[in-house]
Amino acid sequence: MTKSASRDEAASRRAALTSRLITEKLDSFLITSPVNMRYLTGFTGSNGLLWLTPTSARLFTDPRYTTQAAAESSAALSIVKKGPLLTEAIARLKRSKPRRLGFEKSHLSYESYAKLTEELPKSTKLVPLDGWVEEARRVKSATEIERIQESVVTNSLAFDRALRKVRPNLTESELAAEIDYQQRKLGAEGTAFSTIVAAGEHSALPHARPRSEAIGLNRLLLLDMGAQQHGYMSDMTRTVVVGKATRRMRQLYQAVLDAQLEAIDAIRPGVLCAEIDRRARITLKRHGLDKQFVHSTGHGLGLEIHESPRLGRTETLRLAPGMVITIEPGVYLPGEGGIRIEDTVLVTGSGCDVLTPTPKDLLVI
Ligand code: ZN
Ligand code: ZN
Repeated sequence: MTKSASRDEAASRRAALTSRLITEKLDSFLITSPVNMRYLTGFTGSNGLLWLTPTSARLFTDPRYTTQAAAESSAALSIVKKGPLLTEAIARLKRSKPRRLGFEKSHLSYESYAKLTEELPKSTKLVPLDGWVEEARRVKSATEIERIQESVVTNSLAFDRALRKVRPNLTESELAAEIDYQQRKLGAEGTAFSTIVAAGEHSALPHARPRSEAIGLNRLLLLDMGAQQHGYMSDMTRTVVVGKATRRMRQLYQAVLDAQLEAIDAIRPGVLCAEIDRRARITLKRHGLDKQFVHSTGHGLGLEIHESPRLGRTETLRLAPGMVITIEPGVYLPGEGGIRIEDTVLVTGSGCDVLTPTPKDLLVI
């Protein structure tokens, strides 16, 4: 994908937001979340502020990003040489005298909010907006789906390569480092989150941190990993056995796999996210393991590793084509171990495509 295509895509995303600004009678919208800024401009720098009006887009950044911002973004640029970006934005806002100025209520600091209130004229009303850009990001474009798919493939290849290194005396940290290294070698910018490697009873912690302890023999080994490639995330968990699998391990594994497949089977446009979660939960209940499933069934992903929608018990949102979600039921038995199986899944017009190519039969190595 070329730079100009990326700039065009960002411009059309801004256009889609414009109609909403007009409907809500907002003459300005300040975007302060870096990831939302990236979505709407293509700009990937770490310091920026975006000011949208129904007819214009202006990106404020500092001199470190002069060249990069001009190359990545089609928005008008203000390079702020000294002081906070917001000071410069306020100077321009004062001249344009907006009546209703929207801001991202989850992403504007209290300090910035106070500064806006103090320095803008009383005629400007500050309007808190809740997740407008996040909502737009929920349904992915064909280009975004391609990028997520690339990230998913990198992740699965890194899994295959790292798995070849597994020995009972390898530590969890060493295996995590190998995964991270392979991700980068395969074209990722980095990992999507801190890689989880947990062996034996340590795998009973759903978000275990890799330790400097050997993986050991005849134990469960849980790997939760994701790549970030061209800005887009992937997410996969596999639980394997090093050495010999006991009957109990196989039974537990089968229960989690049943739950994962049942949940995937229910995915189609129009289905409540809570229903997908319920499918996983009732399947585990049949195995007497629902109490050991202590998190939600999945989450959206894209430019961020956790995005809307959330596939939890109370989520009232319905699935729509173009959403990309994870399905990741798990069971966790303190003192014994944990099993989770997670794929990245695309909601299609008629059902879904499991993007993750890695097989799910219990792997004993
Ligand atoms: Zn994961
Ligand atoms: Zn996940």
